[in-house]
Amino acid sequence: MRLAEYDGKALLRRHGLAVPRAVLLRAGDEPPDEAAGWPNLFLKAQVLEGGRGKSGLVRRLHGIADFREARRLILATLDDADTPLLLEEAVPIGREIFVAVRVDGTGHRLELVLAAEGGEDVERSAKKLARVAIEPGAAPTAEHVFAAAAELFPRDVAARLARYAARLPDIARQEDLQLLEINPLALTADGRFIACDAKLIRDEAADFRHDPNEFALSRMLAERALTAAERAARDLGFQLVETPGDVVLVTSGAGLAMMMMDLLADHGLGAASFMDNLRGAPDETMNERLQVARTLAKRPGIKAIVFQTVIASRSLAERIDALTTWIEAEPLPKPLFVGLAAGHAATRRISPAAAIEQLGALGVPAFTDPIALVKAVAHAVGVPLAVSRS
Ligand code: GDP
Ligand code: MN
Repeated sequence: MRLAEYDGKALLRRHGLAVPRAVLLRAGDEPPDEAAGWPNLFLKAQVLEGGRGKSGLVRRLHGIADFREARRLILATLDDADTPLLLEEAVPIGREIFVAVRVDGTGHRLELVLAAEGGEDVERSAKKLARVAIEPGAAPTAEHVFAAAAELFPRDVAARLARYAARLPDIARQEDLQLLEINPLALTADGRFIACDAKLIRDEAADFRHDPNEFALSRMLAERALTAAERAARDLGFQLVETPGDVVLVTSGAGLAMMMMDLLADHGLGAASFMDNLRGAPDETMNERLQVARTLAKRPGIKAIVFQTVIASRSLAERIDALTTWIEAEPLPKPLFVGLAAGHAATRRISPAAAIEQLGALGVPAFTDPIALVKAVAHAVGVPLAVSRS
């Protein structure tokens, strides 16, 4: 779960890290009296997407008198008057630093990343990064972090930053964060570190260890960002993410979905849907997925439906029967292509060859090779051959 800046900063504050004074303003709220005493302020849209500074969603106010105009500009940019806004005292930044703890999936551990210049272009100056591997169960010492920080910062800054940054991996662990990114971390003229932004992602698999009612703002924003079809899917027990594309893709499991999305893209096609299992939901939601796929496929921009299944031990026959029932229920809004990969135990009642024949009799081409499947889709919808790469 991605945390909105406001929620992320609340978490950091709970762990004793300094954040700017701020108030959250809901639609129509006026700034509190205390904000009139802040000489410079920032007004920041609370949206889950990053890069707000560049899109005009973070605005500097030279005094509270600028509030109304800044609010108008942000809400006009978003075209959404209900977006909550964070009104913050501007921190006088002596130096902008980038610091993050992230899961290094390849190394199976956390890593601490430091950069000497924070701010909006940190990704582009990535060559100046220092990385510190954090071994599981071990807390990095400030000395350990100092060795890396000293490559980027003057020794006095490196020493203080090392003490600050060494605390972050433990916060990430306690809070089950996949990412804890502070950019910019302000080093003030009087030597304090203040987190001016917070990009935190909590691992949803660990939700049960945390208060389900915390981070209400982030939850509300995530809910609001769902499309009608995504919400319908969630209520039916699976996850759907709509993506810009022309092929409705029905799969189960994120790995398979990503592979198919890549194959489609390699052949000049775009998946219009990504489907995954929802934690804690029934793991068999094929009929629900097909139901949503039919609705999506009625849209004018959609050219085909791809159903790709991989089964190890459940029955291929049952799946083909369910698919047949769905195909025959109503005319398909767009041509359907089926991919099958079935392990030995799945094929006791029907072989893949017999399944392909059964679908073929309904006019639905089916394949055991996903590349052959995608090539057939590209051919049928008329993607020029030059685009097709494999
Ligand atoms: P993002 O673009 O979504 O990452 O939004 P940020 O919260 O990082 O704000 C964008 C930029 O505004 C930052 O990179 C800073 O340069 C600047 N900024 C944000 N908060 C402060 C602050 O308290 N003081 C100062 N001087 N600059 C700030
Ligand atoms: Mn930022």
